[in-house]
Amino acid sequence: MTAPLAPGSTIGILGGGQLGRMLALAAAPLGLKCHIYSDVPGPACDVSAAATVAPYEDLEQIRAFASGVDVVTYEFENVPLAAAAAAETVAPVRPGPKALAVAQDRLEEKTFIRGIGVPVAPFARVDDSASAAAALREVGGSGILKTRRLGYDGKGQIRIAAGADGGAAFEALKGAPCVLEGLVAFAYEISVLVVRGISGETRFYDIPVNTHKDGILDTSTVPSPLPPHHADQARKIAGAIAGALGYVGVLGVEMFYVPDAAEPLIVNEIAPRVHNSGHWTMDACLVGQFENHIRAVAGWPLGPTDRHSDVTMTNLIGRDVDGWLALAAEPATALHLYGKPEARPGRKMGHINRLTPRSA
Ligand code: AMP
Repeated sequence: MTAPLAPGSTIGILGGGQLGRMLALAAAPLGLKCHIYSDVPGPACDVSAAATVAPYEDLEQIRAFASGVDVVTYEFENVPLAAAAAAETVAPVRPGPKALAVAQDRLEEKTFIRGIGVPVAPFARVDDSASAAAALREVGGSGILKTRRLGYDGKGQIRIAAGADGGAAFEALKGAPCVLEGLVAFAYEISVLVVRGISGETRFYDIPVNTHKDGILDTSTVPSPLPPHHADQARKIAGAIAGALGYVGVLGVEMFYVPDAAEPLIVNEIAPRVHNSGHWTMDACLVGQFENHIRAVAGWPLGPTDRHSDVTMTNLIGRDVDGWLALAAEPATALHLYGKPEARPGRKMGHINRLTPRSA
């Protein structure tokens, strides 16, 4: 059993974006400090005790950073595996690098998830134009071609309609190794936020229903209409994935819900970190996802995940943030701004949590 980190200890966070910022803010009330490591100065640096700005490929800097902290975690899944491995020679890395390796490559991810008996969309590997045509037949004639690596918020993917040319889609993605997925006719999208402690204890937040705009998460709402028996099943799936990864921290598991299918819950992808669809927990739960991630990686008892209010989280994307003054004046609404200097289109600038009394 690993001893819990005492107040005054330092948590190292690889990544300097808004997730790192909200992790650092959640660590503070527990008396824990954060040291950010990021390749660019980001919003997490503004609220942390220390920051190192250096490339993730500079393994000497990574080791120096790790030697000054008590545990290392991360806030984005594309941390180079070599950086996580270098940090691990000096300090514990939680969640462990296995979760990173699986989540960084869509083919590995789907193979792993299917391998533990959890349903995913039909998929096939695509390495060249010729294999695109074969893959298209394999997944049912239409689908979504996704790059195996570095895709996010709908980037690095192309829909292929029935009868269309898979090879052209592959060329449009610049010949990057891809996976082709069959289309899932889902009713809506949900996500399970599970936190797993060092002892293997797991806790779950209520399951939000998620909507997207231009491929980017727009809203997460709880309660969702997901029937209780399917919510139980969704939690079992997320718990099984966290257990199979030996996971420590918050894990986001995105799923498609297909109510009348033999397999109603299809895992789309996993995020080995705190997740945008869990931002509502900051204001609608006693202990939100950020604090619970900190508690888990610090070896602390996990906090209560109970929800005390109904809530809709809405992302503020690009110029949405210009409405900050009116949003700050809204009743029963918590405003979170990330302090980013420039509201570029598609950039996550903040979010709001609109609360109403708990209905169910
Ligand atoms: P992803 O980057 O994998 O999260 O995909 C972005 C969005 O595209 C998802 O949130 C879905 O709305 C849609 N999508 C992705 N994969 C599929 C699929 N296999 N079937 C239907 N819709 C999908």
